[in-house]
Amino acid sequence: MSWFSGVQQGPPIEVFALTKQFTEDSFPQKVNLGVGAYRSDEGKPWVLPVVRIAEKALANDDSLNKEYLPVLGLEIFSSLSTKMLLGEDSPALTQNKAFGVQCLSGTGALRVGAEFLARKLEKTVFYFSKPTWGNHRLVFLSAGFQDAREYRYWNGETRGLDIDGFLEDLNNAPEGAVIILHACAHNPTGCDPTQEQWKQIASVIKDKKLFPFFDSAYQGFASGDLDKDAWAVRYFVTQGFELFCAQSYAKNFGLYNERTGNLSVVMNNPSEVPAVKSQITLTVRGMYSNPPSHGARIVSHVLSNKELYNQWRDNIKTMSSRIIEMRKRLREELERLGTPGSWNHITDQIGMFSYTGLNEAQSEHMVKKHHIYMLKSGRISMCGLTPSNVEYVAKSINETLS
Ligand code: PMP
Repeated sequence: MSWFSGVQQGPPIEVFALTKQFTEDSFPQKVNLGVGAYRSDEGKPWVLPVVRIAEKALANDDSLNKEYLPVLGLEIFSSLSTKMLLGEDSPALTQNKAFGVQCLSGTGALRVGAEFLARKLEKTVFYFSKPTWGNHRLVFLSAGFQDAREYRYWNGETRGLDIDGFLEDLNNAPEGAVIILHACAHNPTGCDPTQEQWKQIASVIKDKKLFPFFDSAYQGFASGDLDKDAWAVRYFVTQGFELFCAQSYAKNFGLYNERTGNLSVVMNNPSEVPAVKSQITLTVRGMYSNPPSHGARIVSHVLSNKELYNQWRDNIKTMSSRIIEMRKRLREELERLGTPGSWNHITDQIGMFSYTGLNEAQSEHMVKKHHIYMLKSGRISMCGLTPSNVEYVAKSINETLS
């Protein structure tokens, strides 16, 4: 007899399973376009130089110890993070309507925010884009939401945003529903609304009394400019919205495994901030009590020092420029080979990912025949492309489609 006999085998998590398969593959030209993690031109993981500098400084700082952080994390970290997101002169900050909570990377920030919304505000319905990052649904359902719904986002025919479908679905959403919005560099499509479209989206969210929950996993990574990539969130703030925003430092600081993130909370009434903070404190206390310090100290060290802040911006530029260059190279190669279809979407899309338009069978063919690991949805991580493998990848796509 075992208590566990009835446990069913769960489905594998596609992106992690793919990485395992990739690692076990002995084919010399194999390419991993699955996982969303930055790689250098040599295809190697990259620790940002500014992170190395910060880590050395922290290692030499004998005043630091291993005592617990407060439940809501390192105060300097969360306030600098919220400032980075909203902009220094944001009305929400000057009027004390915004604060941050240090969380376990972007996923943890989504989870803490969702727990609060489900358990304290008794929200049940949430919407995510079709398609979206593979974890939104699980995080929100695990946090206590009951009703997972999709809004239309991607139009496979035009390989662009289905803004009419998007707005119509928001229009039909019940009052109070939580709407997950990708702040920039939409994962997996690489396709963001224009500023005009964001204004339309904001207007429906306001009219229908919906709650915007931004997911900002790629600030700086999309355009190379932190302010530009925060435009949508800042626009909503200037329009007087109350909102949540989950921020991740996995990509823009390369702190993937340090689990460093922040939940920014923007409210209308500063006098209600202490009560909300106290409830989020209980939410966190009941989950993991308090967060780890290392990543938060690295980020605070950099964001509080002007010179290091500028170096970080340069590091972000290095990463985003390499990705933009790889988009160009891939498109050029595909067009040079006369690969069936049009390829402008590769360079029109933004951020870490590209939705190639390859269907499930074609994507599986890429894995099986060419040892190029990519998701079944046809999503590729641009970071896995390098000057030395881009031709091979283009040739393989060409063979798959011809
Ligand atoms: N949201 C989106 C859209 C993402 O792509 C990711 C990372 N893949 C995350 C959130 C969270 O990542 P992390 O928890 O590593 O910060």
